[in-house]
Amino acid sequence: MIEFEKTIKQSKILNPLKNFEEDTITFEYRADPLTGRNTTIIRGMLNYVSRFLTSDAELLTTLVEKTKANCPFCPENVRTKTPMFPREFLAEGRILVGDAVVVPNLLGHAEQSVLAILSREHHLKLEDFTPKLLFDGFKGGVEYLKRLSEVDASVRFPVFVFNYLTPAGSSIFHPHMQILARDRPFYLVNLLIDNSKAYYEKYGASYWHDIVTKEKNAERYLFEVNGVEWLVPFAPLRGLNEAQAIVKGKSNLKELNNGEWLGLAEGISRILKFYHAQGYTSFNIAIMSGPLGEHLDYFDVNLRVISRPGIQQFCFTDAWAVPYLLWDGEAVEEPERFAERAKALFKGT
Ligand SMILES: [Zn+2]
Repeated sequence: MIEFEKTIKQSKILNPLKNFEEDTITFEYRADPLTGRNTTIIRGMLNYVSRFLTSDAELLTTLVEKTKANCPFCPENVRTKTPMFPREFLAEGRILVGDAVVVPNLLGHAEQSVLAILSREHHLKLEDFTPKLLFDGFKGGVEYLKRLSEVDASVRFPVFVFNYLTPAGSSIFHPHMQILARDRPFYLVNLLIDNSKAYYEKYGASYWHDIVTKEKNAERYLFEVNGVEWLVPFAPLRGLNEAQAIVKGKSNLKELNNGEWLGLAEGISRILKFYHAQGYTSFNIAIMSGPLGEHLDYFDVNLRVISRPGIQQFCFTDAWAVPYLLWDGEAVEEPERFAERAKALFKGT
């Protein structure tokens, strides 16, 4: 049923770094087992781009200080500088859970676009994203979704996304998450739902159940927390230290219980600790959901997390033409290598 298809290709060059000796470069084409989308694994690319992935500490400190001056999300400003929900939507205007503050976005990415401000601190290192801080943000997001469903049940497709720091596309430094909800799914969510349905009809089983069964305790498998399975995908979407989480048997965000939210929070916290240990400072996350208000036996809530380049004068980006304009996947190292490195760190902590 689930096939891991890959093809190895090689090319030869006379390498100036090795006194023009003949050198072989290896590329691996991998098909995503659900969508068929190609991801090219480029061995050695992580090493090649690694100098762009760490941050200039002095520049980062300067930017943290500069952006703190007028930050609308810092505790002293949040009540005067962030939007409020209209009174008819929420009498209190904002949703508060622990340190998380949920407010509407000034200008977002969907018809319903909301922010969860996650911490009182203006800047967090990736090792400082605690499970509690993430959990409170998630709970605030779910409270918003509950109210949204009461007001407009047609807005059925939510995603939770994180863009942390400017290399990840965030215009505001202060740690926050976005909750976007629409009456139509995002492109990838739609593709995953459609292909999951086709898989279910063909094989009489859930792709998500099957992929977890196949990967459990194998080389790309990371860990499990409260029914949330963490692994490294066979054919990553973006391939920069990319991990995936699958919430077993839950098809939309409103079905998750506290243990499962904590499973996502705990897993993210561990992955971010690994990123921090590599010297990274920036990341993206997307949590994808099936439609609210109905359970799909063939789809599970799932998450992708990737690291992004560092903050440097050079302004390097990994949003280059192949993934960004040609929609092909690229991974800068073999996913199995990344899983091995991550597991070694998790074992040591
Ligand atoms: Zn701030």
